[in-house]
Amino acid sequence: MIDFNLTDNDQKILDYVRTEALVARKYARYYDENEAEFPPEALDEAKDYPGVWSLMGERTAEDTSQSVIGMLITMAETWGDYSVRMHKGRGAGLGNAALGAAGTEEQRTKWGGLLLSMAITEPGCGSDPSLVQTTAVLDEETDEWVINGEKIFVTTGCRADGVVIWATLDRSAGRAGIKSFLVEKETPGFQVSHKEKKLGIRADDTATYVFTDCRIPRGNLLGGKEEIPKAGSGGFRGVMKTFNITRPMTAAFGLGMSKAALDFAREQLEQAGVDLSYTSGTQGQSAAAAKFQRLEALQEAAELAVCHAAWLSDQGQSNNLEASISKAKGGSSVREITQGCIELLGPMGISREHLLEKWFRDVRITDIYEGTGQIQNLIIARTILEYDRSQLK
Ligand SMILES: Cc1cc2nc3c(=O)[nH]c(=O)nc-3n(C[C@H](O)[C@H](O)[C@H](O)COP(=O)(O)OP(=O)(O)OC[C@H]3O[C@@H](n4cnc5c(N)ncnc54)[C@H](O)[C@@H]3O)c2cc1C
Repeated sequence: MIDFNLTDNDQKILDYVRTEALVARKYARYYDENEAEFPPEALDEAKDYPGVWSLMGERTAEDTSQSVIGMLITMAETWGDYSVRMHKGRGAGLGNAALGAAGTEEQRTKWGGLLLSMAITEPGCGSDPSLVQTTAVLDEETDEWVINGEKIFVTTGCRADGVVIWATLDRSAGRAGIKSFLVEKETPGFQVSHKEKKLGIRADDTATYVFTDCRIPRGNLLGGKEEIPKAGSGGFRGVMKTFNITRPMTAAFGLGMSKAALDFAREQLEQAGVDLSYTSGTQGQSAAAAKFQRLEALQEAAELAVCHAAWLSDQGQSNNLEASISKAKGGSSVREITQGCIELLGPMGISREHLLEKWFRDVRITDIYEGTGQIQNLIIARTILEYDRSQLK
């Protein structure tokens, strides 16, 4: 049964995260304009917030399940501002989610404390990850993998301690040859060659990685299975499973910011005397109130789609379809919500004196990384219609 009620423990955790998130919000504009390290005064302030992990230890079986509370925490963090991730530091990268989804127990223990980025995209490989050209060749003599290739648009690429990369063991094996590997920074042959300048989420860097004869221990293969399975027998599907948790999480990043935009818009509309009560009925409402409430409904539907995908994962059920639905719904909703809030507030919406214009820029990425909106719609259609890739592409 899905229970929508939060327990006292859940509420305590979310209240804590939201309070902490407001510290980060104070420095949001600084990040946006400087793309810099966390300012020292913010670090001092952040010391009063030891982190949510101690509260997580108090959780019981009665509380909301692990992935669902994880999504709610993510939304509460980015409700402060995307920049809150800058001082969350360890364990909060997309690569960490991949480690959690595909790593062995031993690997999770060994690398769980590192901040890990996730690198799939290459100059010739974006929407179709089966086109990965980066290679991993096993050197039996030294018991090492030798990695060669280039990865672009790596979120948290500069700041991360290491990366989970997708590489192929055999280009001729297609999807079946692709595996994920963990590579730590400072490994010889691993170079961070470029940092992007971008529209939004400037608090998080986006980097290019080059691997040149980069040698990593044999045990750095995520999940630990080396054999190349026959096409269609699950190797590629295994690494794709990572998306079943990172896609809802990506939607959750955006939904925290769109919620912040809605809260800001509500405050301003109420101050301007707009009646936002839910009791006046559609006939008695102003156009502004009707529009605002439609945006609120979008937010709620998208949040529920995220929690549903996470809940299925916690139940050990397949959530391939629901992960894509949550990403597609989240990606389009956050764009519509932040744009709608700007329209409602007029000049205030685009003024740099407020964060709304920044949230509008920050959420744009939700519909691009971890698979664009078009690709999610393709997956959803294929799954519902039971078409394979050759029938619908
Ligand atoms: C700021 C930022 C951060 C990123 N972070 C990461 C990261 O951490 N790790 C990582 O691996 N990647 C990351 N990416 C890369 C991102 O995942 C890719 O940009 C995305 O998957 C799209 O790939 P592409 O840019 O090559 O576009 P393309 O695949 O070239 O697609 C171009 C356009 O065509 C559309 N399209 C493609 N195929 C189809 C189709 N079959 N049907 C309909 N439309 C289609 C796409 O939706 C898109 O609109 C990041 C990108 C950005 C901009």
